Amino acid sequence: MSIREQLVALAKVGRMDASTQELDKELKDIPREVDSLRESVGLLEGLLAQERAQLEQAQNLRTQHESLMKEAQDGISRAKSKAAKAKNAREADAVERELEMTRRSLKEREAERDKLTAAIESVQKSLANHETEFANLKELLQQKDAEAQVRIAELTVAREKSLEGREKFSALVPKDVLARYDALRARKGSAVAEVRAGICQGCRMSVRPMQFIVIQREEGIERCAQCQRYLYLGSWLAEDEALLEAGENQPSDLDDEA
Ligand SMILES: [Zn+2]
Repeated sequence: MSIREQLVALAKVGRMDASTQELDKELKDIPREVDSLRESVGLLEGLLAQERAQLEQAQNLRTQHESLMKEAQDGISRAKSKAAKAKNAREADAVERELEMTRRSLKEREAERDKLTAAIESVQKSLANHETEFANLKELLQQKDAEAQVRIAELTVAREKSLEGREKFSALVPKDVLARYDALRARKGSAVAEVRAGICQGCRMSVRPMQFIVIQREEGIERCAQCQRYLYLGSWLAEDEALLEAGENQPSDLDDEA
């Protein structure tokens, strides 16, 4: 295996890994999006439960006030019939005071009930809005979740396809180079770079002239002094691909035969 063949294989591995990097990122991001939507649905559901409890509480309170009002009204009726039977001015005064107190209390209860009614209406309105919002968000979640499942399946297939043949290429790369490649890729995201016009495309720095000569002469495996990436010439890959393309026109696939 020539130096050039080893580096072409490494460049291909690098390209495959780069293509799955985006797929992997999307695969990681998709559930995150759906989860954040699910979280919003959960929050809204909690809010709805809270509002329903508030509403029930206010309604119970209003029922209590209404029964107290009923008591006060009964008190007024009783006081009125007592007033009619009052034997003297003192008794009439006392009944009148009682009547006055009961009326005042009734008025307060009425004001309290009206406040509660207004509060209930406002909670009902807010609840109705939140229920609509909740239903819409839940529907959106179901839709997004279904879309996500489809996309994840697509990406998984695409990922497998991108990595098809990776082993065949990685087997052509010396083990120590591959190990360093993996370690570097874990750190930097990519570990192989093209040299174009003497510039490393990984870090945009000039490659040392002596290294560039070694690369051009296909005499050794070189790494960029700046970014540590393995270096190859783009023309190698282009020529290799042209060869492969020519090979595809032949009746049998050479790769499978090998
Ligand atoms: Zn570099």
